[in-house]
Amino acid sequence: MPQSIIVGNWKMNGSLDAARALCEGVRERLEGENGVLTVICPPFVYLETASKTLKGSKIAVGAQNLHPDTNGAYTGEIAPEMAREFADFAIVGHSERREAFGETDDFIRRKVAAARRVGLKPILCVGESLEARRAGDADEVASRQLAAGVADLENPSGLIVAYEPVWAIGTGESATPEIAQGVMSALRRALISHFGEPAARTPMLYGGSVNADSVADLIRQPDIDGALVGGASLSVETFAPIVERAARA
Ligand code: PEP
Repeated sequence: MPQSIIVGNWKMNGSLDAARALCEGVRERLEGENGVLTVICPPFVYLETASKTLKGSKIAVGAQNLHPDTNGAYTGEIAPEMAREFADFAIVGHSERREAFGETDDFIRRKVAAARRVGLKPILCVGESLEARRAGDADEVASRQLAAGVADLENPSGLIVAYEPVWAIGTGESATPEIAQGVMSALRRALISHFGEPAARTPMLYGGSVNADSVADLIRQPDIDGALVGGASLSVETFAPIVERAARA
């Protein structure tokens, strides 16, 4: 893998001023950092500000979601073409969208294909609930979500997979590197069985309570190429050290 990838998902947090200040702060602090591709995913209404503030830097911008259609009567939704005006990446299938907004594997499959259609790199999130983990179904649930999400793609070009166990998101309880690697090696096998050998190079991120202390051990695992970071992406003081430690791991 050429470099690690660290993605910050701000979720529904911040204000216009705070978004601008956070982008400026991250840009300034990470100016000389080369070994990591950093992506910031602000709420939709701050995408333009983020893209202008980060223009000319090494930090990319991602959307947190998109609708699969180009236009239509979908009040409150954002088309892939709209997101593409400001972003190079798009998070798709986050567990909060699956749970709180009832997004199905089928809808997520359409979003992945739509992102690809407009040249956005989809960051497809998969991961099991605590219940599924306790039942011993973690590999099966995550692999099934992955297979469903990529079903319309003929090749893995531009695809990024994020393994995010639901029980680890926002809980402060990260999966251990061994637990994450266990599921992610199953995901790698699922990817290769769908796409063949090119999927050996598809970047895979771990997400779930990642911080500066945990990131290095996670990304030293053979199938972990970076991290998707929620809470800790909301300040320069917690986000920049994650990128810095990833660069040295
Ligand atoms: C996330 O929202 O994708 C996430 C991983 O959140 P957190 O880092 O806060 O667990």
